[in-house]
Amino acid sequence: NKALAFLKQNILTIATMTGVVLGVVLGMSLRNAKDKWTAREVMYIGFPGEIFLRMLKGLIIPLIVSSLVSAVASLDLSLSGKIAARAIAYYLTTTFAAVVLGMVTVVTIRPGVGHKAANVTSVDQRNVTTVDTLLDLIRNMFPPNMVEATTFQYRTKLIPPNDHETNLYKFKIGEPDIIQSTNVLGLVVIAAALGISIAQLGKEANVIANFFHNLMAVSMKITSWVIFLSPVGVLFLVCSKIMEMDDIPTVVGQLGWYFTTVCCGLFIQGFVVLPLLYLALARKNPFIFINNMSQAIITAFGCASSSATLPLTIRCLEEKNGVDSRVARFCLPIGSAINMDGTALYEAVAAIFIAQVRHVPMDFGTLVAISITATAASIGAAGIPQAGLVTMVMVLDTLGLPAEDVSLILTVDWLLDRFRTAINVMGDAFGASIVYHRSLRELGIIVPTDSSADDPP
Ligand code: ASP
Repeated sequence: NKALAFLKQNILTIATMTGVVLGVVLGMSLRNAKDKWTAREVMYIGFPGEIFLRMLKGLIIPLIVSSLVSAVASLDLSLSGKIAARAIAYYLTTTFAAVVLGMVTVVTIRPGVGHKAANVTSVDQRNVTTVDTLLDLIRNMFPPNMVEATTFQYRTKLIPPNDHETNLYKFKIGEPDIIQSTNVLGLVVIAAALGISIAQLGKEANVIANFFHNLMAVSMKITSWVIFLSPVGVLFLVCSKIMEMDDIPTVVGQLGWYFTTVCCGLFIQGFVVLPLLYLALARKNPFIFINNMSQAIITAFGCASSSATLPLTIRCLEEKNGVDSRVARFCLPIGSAINMDGTALYEAVAAIFIAQVRHVPMDFGTLVAISITATAASIGAAGIPQAGLVTMVMVLDTLGLPAEDVSLILTVDWLLDRFRTAINVMGDAFGASIVYHRSLRELGIIVPTDSSADDPP
């Protein structure tokens, strides 16, 4: 009977896990069935996954804006200030801890020593610098208008010239490019400002407050439908990715140690550091917590985007881990924009790995500089596939390495991206839950004596 109840409560999670396994199996068998699948064939097979991803992405904007606005508006202003301060303190500390852990792992394992890398043509033009990336981050916090923030963000980047073969890049100083991707950070800032002003105006802003409250309810309703599709969506996302990837032994053979180093670091961050922190600060069983979050974590792995996973993260955190919706809806959107433990760790490991390959000497000062830029690079990365690879250019710049050197780690990046995204989502969820447990008294919630908050309802 107990087993049956467990099965009933976790059926969707189990189905999603099965989806991943089936996706791998199907992908592998299809790979073996034919010499080379054309891009069109892979697209057809991945189509259900693509549609699932589009549905999730479609929920991001209404969810982020409505959840943040209604959370800030419904909390007492000084309390939202306190919660925000706690969340940001947690996010920054754990991100920095992840970077340090990454640096310790990569300096210990030294995957880049003795690595034979193909020479990358070095370019004498300037790189995108650390300052450029930081300015982009601030630029994106203040979108010129709300509509633009839903579609574009700014990113100063190297622009490929017409001649792709030569691999030369032209650089436009002070002319950030517009890239087509939701500017989550900008939306978070707009929503926070809206929420604060609604809270200050009180009754006068009743209508707009209710509007966002209702929008939140509606978005969550739609989310609950889309979640049912996650087993199928994840299956096809994984399957098509496996079909199109390069030959596995070649990829892993060249970059095996680098891959292992990143995974080791991610594992320690996700299953040792964060759980210990949770145990110390929330005094709850962290593994029950992770288990309750698993559907979001698997989906993050399947789609490599923490923003697209946000609807599931909110659901799992509120419904399965019993975190008060005011806190979950406040902390998670902010977390999905700025908190990326997995990405931060990866930035540090990858940059130092490349430095090892290129024989760049590293003193303590350089390590400190890397720790700061890697933290900033993870904050600046958007929650979309392989965004970390792009912001890593700024960490490379700190080391005096050219942006083109990211090509050294390119082949395995799509896979590492999935692992780090899963840890990013875990980090956001742990953070929101810790903030909730540290704010129980202020929220007027009586501290439960049993462990009911961790049990699924
Ligand atoms: N894909 C990651 C995320 O969505 C970001 C990255 O590290 O590339 O969280």
